[in-house]
Amino acid sequence: MARILLRNLRKTYDNQTEAVRSINLEIPHNEFLALVGPSGCGKSTTLRMIAGLESITSGDVIIGDRIVNSDQPKDRDIAMVFQNYALYPHMTVYQNMSFGLRLKRTPKDEIHRRVVEAASILNITDLLQRRPKQLSGGQRQRVAMGRSIVRDPQAFLFDEPLSNLDAKLRVQMRTQIKKLHQRMKTTVVYVTHDQIEAMTLADRIVVMNAGRIEQVASPQEMYDN
Ligand code: ADP
Ligand code: ADP
Repeated sequence: MARILLRNLRKTYDNQTEAVRSINLEIPHNEFLALVGPSGCGKSTTLRMIAGLESITSGDVIIGDRIVNSDQPKDRDIAMVFQNYALYPHMTVYQNMSFGLRLKRTPKDEIHRRVVEAASILNITDLLQRRPKQLSGGQRQRVAMGRSIVRDPQAFLFDEPLSNLDAKLRVQMRTQIKKLHQRMKTTVVYVTHDQIEAMTLADRIVVMNAGRIEQVASPQEMYDN
């Protein structure tokens, strides 16, 4: 659990696209921050730089008290949830969720405790022995989130996690994600192009445009505009 600080963060891709132009942003510990803005404004690039999936051109990404600019994604203790999640098809839900912890040689009783707790948060306790092909899209998405939760990361980064789901499931998953944030007391950065989703979920909304922060607002302020 930690704050995230972005200091003069920039990204210029090799083809000279200036995707992010000097972002300064402090995301306090436990905040749910939504990053919104039109397609191509740099949301995903910003998120990927926080996760360490994209190199930064200049500036700093600070997690807790540590500058993590050159740290590998796995050393940042952050979980990134994508819209296209891949579960291991031959493994049960329980095995999918425990896989990462098993690699780290976490003791079995500890793995068990964490999987059971995450499953309870996500309402998938009854599904632990199923395999991915026996699950609906929304259930798979929850298992994918479960795999991140069991690692107990310092922060969750979501990149349009619900955009492949139908309207009804989207509403359900929004509730799940909100509950996840409340239960885990974790910092969340949530990228979406859906303003309603941002207003429903977030403590604070950052609007990006052409690689810059255009506006920072509370959901209420956003609603009033
Ligand atoms: P958003 O998530 O807001 O849609 P992105 O961060 O994906 O925006 O993209 C920001 C800009 O960077 C866009 O102009 C996009 O075309 C460009 N871009 C994204 N990824 C790459 C890449 N790998 N190489 C070159 N340009 C890229
Ligand atoms: P092993 O390392 O020998 O495979 P594990 O204890 O990690 O043993 O798990 C064996 C299998 O038992 C897992 O694949 C999982 O499906 C199941 N399992 C273990 N504990 C639970 C549990 N609490 N709830 C549901 N399934 C479980």
